[in-house]
Amino acid sequence: MHSHGANSSIANRRFGRRSLLKGIGAGALTVGLGTAGQGIAHAEEEALFDVVIIGAGYAGAMVARELGAKGLNTVVLEASDRVGGRIWTDTWAGEQIEVGGQWLAPQQQLVNKELTRYNIATYEDPIPDRVIVAGTTGLKAFSPGDAAKLLTPLWTEFYKGSEKYFERPAEPLYRKDLLAAVDPLSLADRIKQMNLSPAEVNMLTGETSVYSGGPSTLGSLTGMAQWYQLAGGTYESYSSAMGRRPVGGMTTMLHAMLKENFTMVIKGSPVTRISDPGTGKVTVWTASGRRYKAPAVVVATSTNAWKNIAFEPGLPKAHTQATTQGIGVPHGTKMWLHIKGNVEATAGTAPEGSPILMMVPQKQLADGRLMIAFTGPGLDVNDPVKVQAAVQQWIPGAQVLKSRAMAWGKDKWAAGAWGFRRPGQLTGLFPQIEQPHGRVVFAGADIAEGWHGAFIEGALESGLRASKQVLTLVK
Ligand SMILES: Cc1cc2nc3c(=O)[nH]c(=O)nc-3n(C[C@H](O)[C@H](O)[C@H](O)COP(=O)(O)OP(=O)(O)OC[C@H]3O[C@@H](n4cnc5c(N)ncnc54)[C@H](O)[C@@H]3O)c2cc1C
Repeated sequence: MHSHGANSSIANRRFGRRSLLKGIGAGALTVGLGTAGQGIAHAEEEALFDVVIIGAGYAGAMVARELGAKGLNTVVLEASDRVGGRIWTDTWAGEQIEVGGQWLAPQQQLVNKELTRYNIATYEDPIPDRVIVAGTTGLKAFSPGDAAKLLTPLWTEFYKGSEKYFERPAEPLYRKDLLAAVDPLSLADRIKQMNLSPAEVNMLTGETSVYSGGPSTLGSLTGMAQWYQLAGGTYESYSSAMGRRPVGGMTTMLHAMLKENFTMVIKGSPVTRISDPGTGKVTVWTASGRRYKAPAVVVATSTNAWKNIAFEPGLPKAHTQATTQGIGVPHGTKMWLHIKGNVEATAGTAPEGSPILMMVPQKQLADGRLMIAFTGPGLDVNDPVKVQAAVQQWIPGAQVLKSRAMAWGKDKWAAGAWGFRRPGQLTGLFPQIEQPHGRVVFAGADIAEGWHGAFIEGALESGLRASKQVLTLVK
């Protein structure tokens, strides 16, 4: 579609031709500053591309692959020293773990397409032996069947009406008329409307406060209700949507996407400034003063991270509001636990305010079981005594051999954990937030229309949309 113009040839001279890279069988080229990166562009020099992509998460990788396939010369500037963003496959306790996002839903069509494209198989996480349900007096263990009997009517009532206001859940604004009354509601507002007993309230607030990444007043009802409808609109379909994992880890697909068109990723390159003077070329500056120029730039960072970049001209109202209010949640701490001995596979939620809000069982190893805990803001995850006491509320007598926690809300580059729209953001920010700002295009799971925020499906969707927007700018 787009032929390599003068810009591309300059870039090719500096970076080596794609054909050469293909010839030597190079995979995705990831360059760290301090090595080859330093030879690329000195402070006063400019590197010219067709498209500069900011952020090497799933959204950025999708844009790079799609535009690379069209013959465009792209570069991905990544602030941190690894690719993946809020996806991070690592090794701990001798096992492969996911520090960030971990599960895929069979209902996620774009994820399914990518799994097929790269021939990646999936497997299921362990099925729980016992499920913790909160009552008025602490946590109680039930069989999975008995827990479902308690929870199904409550959640069914919670989501009542969502089949109407999300008549077409992949097109969230389709019933904007009905959303006007619902979108301002927080998850806490919805629970209040239900007139539940204190025990019943406790059964719901673990999940609502986990997703809100803080108090349940922070997250929108429509945020969760849209996922519920996308999953099939029943509590059963919704709960069974989240146990699937890709063989090789969550980053496998991302590496395959970056490799497909030999995307160049320059790590350790935080972007600090983007200037679009209206001349047809946008200039991007990194913290070290390097400059990159292109007719189109894609900002594929979290929405919260936009505020760390100086945009000239300044961002439109919806974009400014989104990054100031935040879509990425303030508290999203995922903790891996290695618990001694043979431990029952324990799942469930505890009421808002608890040190551990949600648990998900992982593999039983020879010397103990791995478990995942999503913790509340009150727990000091660096204090092993407090961590052990918190775990013992769920598993009496449990001995925590070790733990590892990642507080995504405090991560410099994520600038928040998973995305979860605040009350009013769906009707207040969309669809304006998906629109380019001159030659600057935006991508990211946080601003996806379908599986938004807490799912790579949304990152893929937004990457596809952004790629199309770029093509209208560079053709
Ligand atoms: C704890 C946790 C659990 C989750 N669970 C799941 C799950 O089970 N399933 C699921 O599908 N999803 C899950 N998610 C959500 C999922 O991880 C995200 O929706 C998705 O990875 C977001 O992709 P993205 O490309 O939009 O943004 P990101 O992954 O955040 O990528 C943005 C990139 O931009 C970089 N960046 C930021 N600022 C700059 C800058 N100034 N210059 C250059 N680069 C910059 C960042 O370093 C990052 O690499 C979870 C997330 C978290 C945190």
